[in-house]
Amino acid sequence: MIPRLILKAGRDKSIRRRHPWVFSGAVERVEGAPDRGATLAIHAADGRAIALAAWSPASQIRARIWTFDADASIDADFLRAAIGRALDFRKRLPVARHANAYRLIHGESDGLPGLVVDRYADVLVAQFLAAGVERWRDTILDALAEATGCEAIYERSDAEVRTLEGLLPRAGLARGDRRAARCAIVEHGVNFRVDFEHGQKTGFFLDQRDNRQRIREMAGGRTVLDAFCYSGGFAIAALAGGARHVTAIDSSGAALDVARENLIANDLEGAPIELREADVFAHLRALRDERAQFDLVVLDPPKFAPTAAQARNAARAYKDINLLALKLLAPGGCLATFSCSGGVPMDLFQSIVAGAAVDARVDARIIERFGAAADHPVALNFPEGDYLKGLLVLRA
Ligand code: SAH
Repeated sequence: MIPRLILKAGRDKSIRRRHPWVFSGAVERVEGAPDRGATLAIHAADGRAIALAAWSPASQIRARIWTFDADASIDADFLRAAIGRALDFRKRLPVARHANAYRLIHGESDGLPGLVVDRYADVLVAQFLAAGVERWRDTILDALAEATGCEAIYERSDAEVRTLEGLLPRAGLARGDRRAARCAIVEHGVNFRVDFEHGQKTGFFLDQRDNRQRIREMAGGRTVLDAFCYSGGFAIAALAGGARHVTAIDSSGAALDVARENLIANDLEGAPIELREADVFAHLRALRDERAQFDLVVLDPPKFAPTAAQARNAARAYKDINLLALKLLAPGGCLATFSCSGGVPMDLFQSIVAGAAVDARVDARIIERFGAAADHPVALNFPEGDYLKGLLVLRA
């Protein structure tokens, strides 16, 4: 008999709606002393088994559901099948024709809670971010190596969220061999170098692929400001699209070094771009004081609000930068503004940007909405997975 988690009366509703998390407040009791990451049968208060889940004793998310079929077994075959489904679905996406880098496994929305795997050409970069996938790490790594035939799997389980699961950070080569410090990837014909060892997250922001392409289409002949540019994703897309001049700002010198490599990788060494190591908040203020104007501004800040609880402070930060960005827009210019905070839903984000426009005394309208690329699916029953959102705003 596997250990059992019995829910409080009435607390099975979200699970019956196929939400994959069991919060601590929903747990009546646990029977059978499970180890961290062990498989549990989830039972409703009436005794019926309704799901199988992984036990995360240290986290407020006490269990993460593997399957709503309580008769299944969680084993190597189960994990191989889930990985196989994730791979098959990506093979049929347009990204398979336009890029050699994409998200292969997107956690809960691919039925593998807490597992993130990005493919960069022949290298996979994996993050084990919850107790369940951590427990099955070796099985998962073997299955990934077998299913993809990749040269190497590099592990970047060094994200902050692991501490919430009581897990220590881990990073390094997990399978195969890889000497080169960069992966060379191609996205819609644009080359990028990915620093998978030291870069942020797994090394590159694949979720913005389609949005970078959109900016490229719009950038011809325009002056562009790319705020929070990281390794230059939007900036280089804009140059590839014929931008007249690009100003790209990031506080990370290491990210800007990779941005320089990316310019070289696209034969853009002499291109009209200024890479500026600075704090965006301070630098946008300085640009405002100089009365600088841009035709196209991209704002892609880091996650200010990982959870809804931090939304209030985050709202302040989003408003500040959007207000500054709107003031820097030339008449007829466009602002592409993003939030990757799971705790800030689209309606809240839109009202923050609307407030910023009022304070900036700018008349503006939404002409497009952005989300994450299709290799970052959002399970219908898991709205938390819908983290990336953006608005394209046209100034009158
Ligand atoms: N647009 C990028 C991804 C941006 S990630 C792409 O398409 O690849 C967010 C970036 O914000 C990171 O590179 C981080 O270094 C930078 N950052 C965080 N806080 C900052 C600040 N206050 N000022 C400038 N850059 C900042």
